[in-house]
Amino acid sequence: MPRPIRAAISASALAHNLSVARKHAGNAKIWAVIKANAYGHGLERAARAMEAADGFAVLDFQEAARLRVAGVTKPILMLEGVFKPVDVPLLHKYALTPVIHSSAQVDMLRTAELGGPIDIYLKLNSGMNRLGFTPENLGGNYQALRENPRVRSITLMTHFADADGATGVKAQLEWFGEMTKSFPHKRSLANSAALLKFPEALGEWVRPGIMLYGCSPFADRPAGTFDLKPAMTLTSELIATQHLQSGERVGYGFSYEAAAELDIGIVACGYADGYPRHAPVGTPILVNGIRTRIVGRVSMDMITVDLSGIPDAGVGTPVTLWGEGLSADEVAAAAGTLSYEMLCALAPRVPVTDAP
Ligand SMILES: *Cc1c(COP(=O)(O)O)cnc(C)c1O
Repeated sequence: MPRPIRAAISASALAHNLSVARKHAGNAKIWAVIKANAYGHGLERAARAMEAADGFAVLDFQEAARLRVAGVTKPILMLEGVFKPVDVPLLHKYALTPVIHSSAQVDMLRTAELGGPIDIYLKLNSGMNRLGFTPENLGGNYQALRENPRVRSITLMTHFADADGATGVKAQLEWFGEMTKSFPHKRSLANSAALLKFPEALGEWVRPGIMLYGCSPFADRPAGTFDLKPAMTLTSELIATQHLQSGERVGYGFSYEAAAELDIGIVACGYADGYPRHAPVGTPILVNGIRTRIVGRVSMDMITVDLSGIPDAGVGTPVTLWGEGLSADEVAAAAGTLSYEMLCALAPRVPVTDAP
């Protein structure tokens, strides 16, 4: 038998969350962002569950090719565009829409053989200072793309740095508007946070990611308040229990000491499964559906949990690490990380199963 840990992915939750995104998007079309193996949920599975999306956004050419092989015919947005000239012929071959963010990429499109017409996204750096053109180099590159006979259409794009935070989108939005006011093109602006919070900052194509997986982009607003449902539920079981006397300690570094007699459970899940290693004592966890806390340090293959108030807990008792009944956002906050990182970090050794 394999270890009892499992990640169950709910197709209906993914479809439901996409419909929530649709409500917020109004007339805008939706790129379902399924990069990073669909935030750990499985690329093909996520594309199938969210087939009602208008297109899919990924990073790697392998991911894009896998979607085409799986029968996806919708547009595919390559979020970082081409990396090397050898990527260029794949754009037309697989009907991919690259984000073009640098003059190096503009040159690649000019000099490498495209083989046919493509649509492109032109990315502007509106303040985040990772990717995109600035007022200094936008004009010449835009002109070069307009003159490229293989470029069929251009959509203008930018990415918000703090749509989920205190700064918001106002300055970036104004700057983007100013920089593109003479360009007669469609626009793509919003990630999940902007889609949920700034209806004025959407454009014609939105790019939600994290919300599709049932998590909140906001530290101060739970996903449930947006009617989002967790798509991934990570479960396992107790594989042992221990009865500690007052003063006995638990795990590596003896980091937790029982103040009184204490029953603890040993869960088959550790950081090698993707559970955050820095989750401190007190991080929430469900044992037999009852909320309790982890005690002691997270180790590679095991977590130790407080069994106070959980009658009859023993070997085989079910445990929920996150998902249905316990938000990944809440576990992430306790562990000093984000649901984004936790979902993406789900380890390849964890079996993933389809759930309704
Ligand atoms: C990942 C990504 C998104 C999705 O962001 P979420 O916060 O997960 O909604 C949107 N746009 C770009 C450019 C991205 O890289």
